Amino acid sequence: MSVTPADYPPPFSAREFVAEPTDPPDERIEVGILIVGAGPAGLACAIRLGQLVQESRELGERLGDVPVAVLEKGQQPGSHIVSGAVVNPRGLRRLFQGQKGIEDMPFYGEVEAESVYFLRAKTALRIPTPPTMKNHGNYVASLSQLVRWLGEQAEEAGATVLPETTAERLLVKDGRVLGVRTGDKGRGRNGEPLPNFEPGSDILARVTILCEGTQGHLTGIALDTFGLEGESPQVWALGVKEVWKVERPLRRVVHTMGWPLRAGAKYREFGGSFIYPMGKDMLTLGMVVGLDYRDAELSVHDLLQELKTNPLVRRMLEGGERVGWGAKTIPEGGFVALPRRLHAPGLLLCGDGAGMVNVPALKGVHYAVESGRLAAEAAVEALRPGRTPWAPGALGTYDEAVRQSFIWSDLKAVRNMRQAFGRGFYLGGMLAGAMTASRGAFPPGNMDTERDAEQPIFRTGRGSPAPGGKLTFDKLSSVYLSGNRTRDDAPNHLRVRTRVPSELALMWEHMCPAQVYEASDGSVEVTPSNCVQCGAITAKGGRLTPPEGGSGPEYTLT
Ligand SMILES: Cc1cc2nc3c(=O)[nH]c(=O)nc-3n(C[C@H](O)[C@H](O)[C@H](O)COP(=O)(O)OP(=O)(O)OC[C@H]3O[C@@H](n4cnc5c(N)ncnc54)[C@H](O)[C@@H]3O)c2cc1C
Ligand code: SF4
Repeated sequence: MSVTPADYPPPFSAREFVAEPTDPPDERIEVGILIVGAGPAGLACAIRLGQLVQESRELGERLGDVPVAVLEKGQQPGSHIVSGAVVNPRGLRRLFQGQKGIEDMPFYGEVEAESVYFLRAKTALRIPTPPTMKNHGNYVASLSQLVRWLGEQAEEAGATVLPETTAERLLVKDGRVLGVRTGDKGRGRNGEPLPNFEPGSDILARVTILCEGTQGHLTGIALDTFGLEGESPQVWALGVKEVWKVERPLRRVVHTMGWPLRAGAKYREFGGSFIYPMGKDMLTLGMVVGLDYRDAELSVHDLLQELKTNPLVRRMLEGGERVGWGAKTIPEGGFVALPRRLHAPGLLLCGDGAGMVNVPALKGVHYAVESGRLAAEAAVEALRPGRTPWAPGALGTYDEAVRQSFIWSDLKAVRNMRQAFGRGFYLGGMLAGAMTASRGAFPPGNMDTERDAEQPIFRTGRGSPAPGGKLTFDKLSSVYLSGNRTRDDAPNHLRVRTRVPSELALMWEHMCPAQVYEASDGSVEVTPSNCVQCGAITAKGGRLTPPEGGSGPEYTLT
């Protein structure tokens, strides 16, 4: 009998995370507009709001003492950010309207050249760059660094950024979103308050904008509470990356496909690698693999280690040293998985949380930035005198603006691309070629998307290279390099069943890049303090909830 993760749902109910305010009225924190998540979407939104407040004193007065607040669970903006990243500057140029140029932003430079390879274990065959993967005019960044810079711009524009603060519950009353409740801090393993205990707070706002990124906790709650799920289910990929100090500069952007993934349709292994230059003495390389894979022993962390043993990649790293590591999921459902609506009364959804990623191009930053900008404008529009943002449809101007934007047209043009690869690498590749040539007109309808957790899993006996500690590494040394700061005695934020079939326990053990799960006969041991909040467990049968604010990784180069 085959095992599917979806048959073992986690002990989790969305209702647990929806509440009415509980703090006494005089203790509630009131802000004008509340943004959850200081990533590209949330910070672009805060910057645009700052510009609009500067243009209209009256708007500023209406928004009160704290016109714009941004909550971020990481220690600072950027701490929980992992990306490639080759960034299309379009969104940033529109956001700053000439007030800041690309030269002011912390980029490593413009893409000078690029190549795509089809790999086997010992060879690399250069192939023509598919049109969807061309990067002319784009810039390389560490998104963690770019986001830190955006955080400074948001503060200069007047936003109050509150780091180490988790938005844990959505405050809803009479069908209207009122704000969020932040998570408690200083609880022990069993939830008991420790001497440094600090309770969370109710933060109320006239509009709440969720910019939580992939696997957004409250975004998931909002989709469920307001019935906003898209036509097709969302699916994800897991990306694991490293940053290396190297002896010789890499002067081009490299993508690879093929090995170490297998092409057979039964494995459903879709993905590839990226290798990007970071100035004269660093480069970053990562492996991205769709989480609809079926092999219980597949580990994206270990595939990345294996990738480095190919002579093409090994040569780039020779004499170098690994200086950074990170892991994060990417929403890959595309156009057909976008929420039915991007708003609810008093609420807007942006960026990766809403699934705005162009999968064949591996791009989401400029969509996140543009959606944040458009959300800011829609929120302000709904706050004009005589209007209320929680009246039904009042925030619908945001949906309209997104439909008119490049986000919509770009995602529509590649709408079936990810779904095609569920049919295997070769058939998927042929279908993708036809889709690109027709700008998305072929095939005329939408292809089915199957949930990641609904794929049957089986063992294939695949092995991984033993980590050598110079070129290849084990998971624990990777977690160490992420700067993870979670207390060993923090409450468990991972919802999974612990008595599960051995295939499922084994799959979680291999899947998790941070060695959180250990399969033992018929059950699984969980070490939550290793978790780097990548979100993969939510795609494959469990549920990640946000841990205490300020815990988790401290990324600086990813
Ligand atoms: C390996 C990898 C490679 C990629 N490569 C590229 C690339 O080359 N080019 C490109 O354009 N895109 C790339 N992407 C995609 C890109 O990184 C995302 O599309 C983009 O970061 C989305 O921005 P966002 O603001 O929506 O979300 P995020 O960047 O994920 O930011 C969300 C923020 O919200 C915070 N947060 C979440 N929930 C809460 C909560 N409840 N309370 C408080 N804070 C919260 C998080 O800590 C985080 O800081 C890549 C992604 C990955 C993982
Ligand atoms: S336990 Fe944490 S690090 Fe491991 S897969 Fe789940 S979210 Fe990712």
